[in-house]
Amino acid sequence: MKGILYCATCKSRLHLDFARNKQGIRYAHYVCSGQTSKRTTCTRKAVPVGIAEELVAACYERIGISEQTFTALARQVNAAFAERMASCAQELAELTDIDRKLESDHEQDTGQRKHLASALKLLTYCAAPYQQSDDEAKRLTDQAFFEKIHIGEDEQAVVGRAASREPRARLGRVEGAAGAQKRAALPGGP
Ligand SMILES: [Zn+2]
Repeated sequence: MKGILYCATCKSRLHLDFARNKQGIRYAHYVCSGQTSKRTTCTRKAVPVGIAEELVAACYERIGISEQTFTALARQVNAAFAERMASCAQELAELTDIDRKLESDHEQDTGQRKHLASALKLLTYCAAPYQQSDDEAKRLTDQAFFEKIHIGEDEQAVVGRAASREPRARLGRVEGAAGAQKRAALPGGP
């Protein structure tokens, strides 16, 4: 989650901090960097790491799509690519929704088809495997899907702009995240 969490109050980054409680035990919290550096007059409370993790996981539940939607979209994508191959000049209206979601350009490269499929797959299943991922897979997945997640004082997470606007870079990140999730999900894997 490092690097994507922001304070919704003053828009500064949230930093990991290990403060001691009264018993002298260290607890990991996210604190507002605007506040600690006195750059802003923000007074938001620190967010326990566990809560921040739950909020980020909830963001995936919000952007995830159902298996049914995935099947329908995949069918559309396949049909659209078949059509495109038949007549390359035609614009693909079927891809509009998917494009909006993935900010994809209308690449004619067939490799893109594979990327789209794995990105859709990851969106379909992202909430569940995300929870079981290791830290590295979570970090890659967070970066693939989100540029900023603002955490409000009411402990609501608000997703900022989607990650990289360059579609190919974005799909590359999604692929990397899917690979990392797969590795993390392998029983007894590295
Ligand atoms: Zn703040």
